[in-house]
Amino acid sequence: MSKINRQGILDILEGYDKDDITIATLGSHSSLHMFQGAKAEGFRTAVVCEKGREVPYQRFNVADEYIMVDKFSDIVNDDVQQQLRDMNSIVFPHGSFVAYAGLDNIETIFNVPMFGNRDILRWEAERDLERKLMTESGIRIPKKINNPKDIDGTVMVKFPGARGGRGYFVANSPEEFDQKIDAMLKRNWIEEEDIKEAHIEEYVLGCNYCIHYFYSGLKDEVELMGIDSRYESTIDGLVRVPAKDQLDIGADPSYVITGNHPVVMRESLLPQVFEIGDRITETAKELVKPGFNGPLCMQTLVNDNLEVVVFEMSARSDGGTNTFMNGSAYSYLYHGEPLSMGRRMAREIKNGIKENRLDEIIT
Ligand code: ADP
Repeated sequence: MSKINRQGILDILEGYDKDDITIATLGSHSSLHMFQGAKAEGFRTAVVCEKGREVPYQRFNVADEYIMVDKFSDIVNDDVQQQLRDMNSIVFPHGSFVAYAGLDNIETIFNVPMFGNRDILRWEAERDLERKLMTESGIRIPKKINNPKDIDGTVMVKFPGARGGRGYFVANSPEEFDQKIDAMLKRNWIEEEDIKEAHIEEYVLGCNYCIHYFYSGLKDEVELMGIDSRYESTIDGLVRVPAKDQLDIGADPSYVITGNHPVVMRESLLPQVFEIGDRITETAKELVKPGFNGPLCMQTLVNDNLEVVVFEMSARSDGGTNTFMNGSAYSYLYHGEPLSMGRRMAREIKNGIKENRLDEIIT
């Protein structure tokens, strides 16, 4: 299947009434502040929603139009795409949109203008591409261990795709690696064929900070929009267990994300934060043209040497943006007003229309 034709998308955009644009996305993940922000910037909003999942959009009253589907993945169906185009829709991607629509579909059959670079989504989904982008940026990432036999310290073992940390485990030796693989298989959290895909990396002992940036293609500038920390089950529940019971109850902790807290970093770490954002966006301009566009997130751990170590990235709005629906300490510093990621995205679209440069930020 051939890739979406860029000229085709630009032609659709050309046909849109720019005074009557709809901001649309799947009703899930980080859509609430996208809708709220889009409305605040004067756009109509449309939620593509699986039946039974509409309650938050109704109760918070953030969607003007509802396109109800049997399942989220129906967003790529021809009739849904047609409805979106009929409303002059620009789609805001987020984690669930990518997961349900599917990367292949987004690249080949989803003929609706999207904010951002649709080609970069694959670079967060495929670990080799992600590592290439990070390595070439020269940012600090966890060291990779190529063979389980070479494990000689604490390592984190991961499997392909974002699974919300399900099936990840920690090991300290080749023997422990094998034991835990067996336990994961028994739990049906991984399958035989996943074993060869196991990714083993240095365990970074530190605090979790997920840094949300907005790269403005119009201004060619990276803005720090907010930072969150993950609240993961069962690892974060373990601290509530008395120490003497932790070994029994917490023998196999998991890292299933259940929520996020807003955080700030100590100020002396911020130069590293800006450097990471600048480096990754500069490198992406070369590796996956035209580079990032809009939201991105670098998931980091900060160790006691005060190194910010990046272990994962999102090339679109990350779920942690929900911690600053009314702005963060940083978006306030930058913009002097409470600004969510969704509203920042909508503002970029508005500026693109005003400056007649929408084609530069849409794919
Ligand atoms: P997913 O993308 O599937 O949500 P992540 O890559 O974000 O999974 O990892 C889930 C969690 O595992 C992280 O939030 C972090 O707590 C932990 N983690 C990931 N990589 C490392 C690492 N190298 N060292 C220590 N902890 C890690």
